[in-house]
Amino acid sequence: MALRFQKLKLDKFRQRTVSMRLPLFAMFLLMGVLPMVLQGQIMGRSFRRTQIDGRVIEVQNQSLITSDRLSRAGYMTAPSRDVLLDKELDTIADIFNGRIVVVDRNFRIIKDTFKLSVGRINVSEPVLRCFNGENSILREDEKQYFAVTAPIYDNTESRNIIGVLLTIASTENILSNVNSVEETSRFFVVTASLVMVLAGILLTVLFVRPFEKLQVSLDRMADGSLDEAVSENTYRETKRISEAIQRTKAKLQSMDRSREEFVANVSHELKTPITSIRVLADSLMGMEDAPVELYREFMSDISDEIDRESKIVDDLLSLVKMDKSVAELNVTQVDINVLVQQTLKRLQPIAEKRHVELIYESIREVTADADETKLSLAISNLVENAIKYNVDGGWVRVTLDADHKYFYIKVADSGIGIPEDVQDNVFERFYRVDKARSRETGGTGLGLSITKNVVLMHYGAIRLISKEGEGSTFTVRIPLTYIY
Ligand code: ADP
Repeated sequence: MALRFQKLKLDKFRQRTVSMRLPLFAMFLLMGVLPMVLQGQIMGRSFRRTQIDGRVIEVQNQSLITSDRLSRAGYMTAPSRDVLLDKELDTIADIFNGRIVVVDRNFRIIKDTFKLSVGRINVSEPVLRCFNGENSILREDEKQYFAVTAPIYDNTESRNIIGVLLTIASTENILSNVNSVEETSRFFVVTASLVMVLAGILLTVLFVRPFEKLQVSLDRMADGSLDEAVSENTYRETKRISEAIQRTKAKLQSMDRSREEFVANVSHELKTPITSIRVLADSLMGMEDAPVELYREFMSDISDEIDRESKIVDDLLSLVKMDKSVAELNVTQVDINVLVQQTLKRLQPIAEKRHVELIYESIREVTADADETKLSLAISNLVENAIKYNVDGGWVRVTLDADHKYFYIKVADSGIGIPEDVQDNVFERFYRVDKARSRETGGTGLGLSITKNVVLMHYGAIRLISKEGEGSTFTVRIPLTYIY
């Protein structure tokens, strides 16, 4: 259940579309603003640390120098206190904005520049440690001060520690300096970030604009204005997309044209037999007392026209079926020899009627992937044409051959041939070289275009070699294995 819910949520997420501007803008922020803010933070922190460290070292050095001076002057042991040295200690404490305290061996404070705790006892940890020979620094960053100690020695050879100089310095002024620097830098970061965000918005809008223009053109195309020129050449990518759209558009336009042409042709072809029937019927009706023989003759003509009409409809239906999709192919392993032989057998009576000899030559046994019905129709069309457009006493030779990849069916005839300049056109729907002759033989002009469609559906090719008055050879080449 939980898994399903998660999947649903994921699907929903996938379905949601986001504007291209969003990731672009996010990328801009991530690459521009974020590093700047982070760098500002890190630099601020390390600046604060180095400033305080510097002050600690400075105070420590000064403290050591002072304690050395106090040791040499015998500050701790002198019967009366050296006023000059006292003054110096006050000055140093003022310079560091701090406080200097001198503690003797009994932990008694003998000097305090703040004059608050003279005579009191100081047993703080840094002082204790210093008497034990350990110099320590006490840092209280939170409370904005630090304390350093330095030992004061007696003037004997053994250099005994007889006092401790404790310097407490404030970091307040340093921190206020650091804060003002940080404030300036923060102001800079905020201003720069704002500029970057504005620049990001502007750049994102500019970047996406060509794509939007493309979309507007496409919308107009979708609304039906195919004549609209699509050219957005700002980027190489949009240029390529525009070119691809232009190509698709040209294809659509040509399809549109050929559809219109096809509909016009179909209506014309369907109308012709109907017009003939109407003329025949009208003339019969216009005749008073027409003899029965005439009736019979006209009726037989009408029957012929109906046959023609029905053949056109049949051919059109085959063509429409072929146009649908490759998935309509019912591919099985077919013995092509048997298929060709059966087709020829069916056409034998027509050939005999026209006194045309049908010859079959099989160079090798061929089994291939094919749609039996459709392929048979294609071969049948070729052989039928070879018989129809032949001369009395002529021949038709069908040859079957194959190599490791393809099988070849060659239909050659000794017929009237096809003029070179129209050889490409014969595969077009309704195209006939000699309209009168085709009509005479019951042709619809659709046979070769059906054949070509079948061959293309099998991923094959068809080729025509012909010479007027000498004959024609149609060669079909189809792969032995059908790749889905
Ligand atoms: P049709 O139904 O008119 O035969 P096709 O599409 O089969 O239509 O053929 C188109 C035209 O090509 C035919 O009208 C004919 O003029 C020409 N043609 C086809 N096959 C041959 C052939 N073997 N010899 C001569 N002309 C041919």
